[in-house]
Amino acid sequence: AHEGILRRQSARESAARTYARALPIVPVRARGLTIEGADGRRYLDCLSGAGTLALGHNHPVVLEAIRKVLDSGAPLHVLDLATPVKDAFVTELFHTLPRGLADHARVQFCGPAGTDAVEAALKLVRTATGRTGLLAFTGAYHGMTAGALDASGDAPDVRVARLPYPQDYRCPFGVGGPRGAELATRWTESVLDDPKSGVPHPAGMILEPVQGEGGVIPAPDAWMRRMREITAARSIPLIADEVQTGVGRTGAFWAVEHSGITPDVMVLSKAIGGSLPLAVVVYRDDLDVWEPGAHAGTFRGNQLAMAAGTATLAYVRENRLAERAATLGSRMLDQLRSLAGEFPCIGDVRGRGLMIGVELVDAEGDCGRLGDGTSGDGGAADALLGSEPLNGGVTPAVVQDSRAGSPRPADPELAAAVQRECLRRGLIVELGGRHASVVRLLPPLTISEEQAAAVFDRLADAVEAAAR
Ligand code: PMP
Repeated sequence: AHEGILRRQSARESAARTYARALPIVPVRARGLTIEGADGRRYLDCLSGAGTLALGHNHPVVLEAIRKVLDSGAPLHVLDLATPVKDAFVTELFHTLPRGLADHARVQFCGPAGTDAVEAALKLVRTATGRTGLLAFTGAYHGMTAGALDASGDAPDVRVARLPYPQDYRCPFGVGGPRGAELATRWTESVLDDPKSGVPHPAGMILEPVQGEGGVIPAPDAWMRRMREITAARSIPLIADEVQTGVGRTGAFWAVEHSGITPDVMVLSKAIGGSLPLAVVVYRDDLDVWEPGAHAGTFRGNQLAMAAGTATLAYVRENRLAERAATLGSRMLDQLRSLAGEFPCIGDVRGRGLMIGVELVDAEGDCGRLGDGTSGDGGAADALLGSEPLNGGVTPAVVQDSRAGSPRPADPELAAAVQRECLRRGLIVELGGRHASVVRLLPPLTISEEQAAAVFDRLADAVEAAAR
């Protein structure tokens, strides 16, 4: 069955298949961290539905919540009508929201994916401000529909100013740390202060508190606070895309809580549906300028997803799984950093909570021109900041193509080899980052200490085998 299914899938499905290419497995059973394939092999799943499975596969409380709805005879499809199931979900969701938002929040159900909620958020701030421009960040990932694509990655778009996202390892300014973040902040300010930038009065700023698909890059808390100040001072709504970082993943229930900021809009999906499709935008009630029916959609009332989501949110909250993610995550980061000491091909280890990235590099390689990451003093950045024009078309290329701050070039082949070696050892990991050179770990927040140790051991073996 195993081989036949894989063969038919690759013959009949689109060439755009993503995960299935690198992970030729046929899951037939799963529980917690473990997936069992049709070939009888068992795997530790650190992909977790791209960060969706906060409680792992088929957690009993999630299954119970779904069964309860099925057994109750409640309708499974209700468009966006009021139901007890939805009422319970919204109550639990509001219970978890950052305090600054909880008392004045509105929720809009979108459906059914993260990208739909991103679209809704962009449309909301454009409607509320009457403006179109957008501030987004290098390396961002917000989804695959048109508006979300505009806000993601590198695609040039006249309405989008692409701003540098601060990072230590591949700092666009070659300095990293607080100075790199400060230069990134100045860049943002200069775009907003420049009438020629094309977006001096944008409709909003959208950011991920930790970039996930971009290669697991946690934003510094101080920078997050600066972005909040800058946007607040200019009445620009700040949209936090917490599709991947939400529900305890980073060691706080919502990742914005690390910096203590209150965004105007939060985009939520993945874990909030307890493994079923569910996506919402939550926003300050004074932004709720929509006319009735201004945002519609057939699949905004998934009762099973809401029930599974209510159970998940409550379980994470009651069992303090965010704190658990913080503790286990920092232990795993420490272990991985000492592994990096042994293997020069591990260029960087970073993350927050149980959102962890290990970047594979060519240890012998040279990144060239814009600095080697040891001598940068920000001079290049100051020169760039002083140069004009600072518009969405010109500056991003400079920022993104520089590898300043990176001691070594990314090594996507080595990362793919590590992923293959992991799979051979029964460990499922995902690759991410601009160069697909970052091994990403997104285990369930319920992972046991023994399982975490097994994940580390298998990954360490895989790196050793791949680096040989
Ligand atoms: N935003 C972020 C931060 C994400 O990580 C993702 C998915 N990886 C999305 C949006 C899009 O979600 P979906 O794939 O459900 O459309």
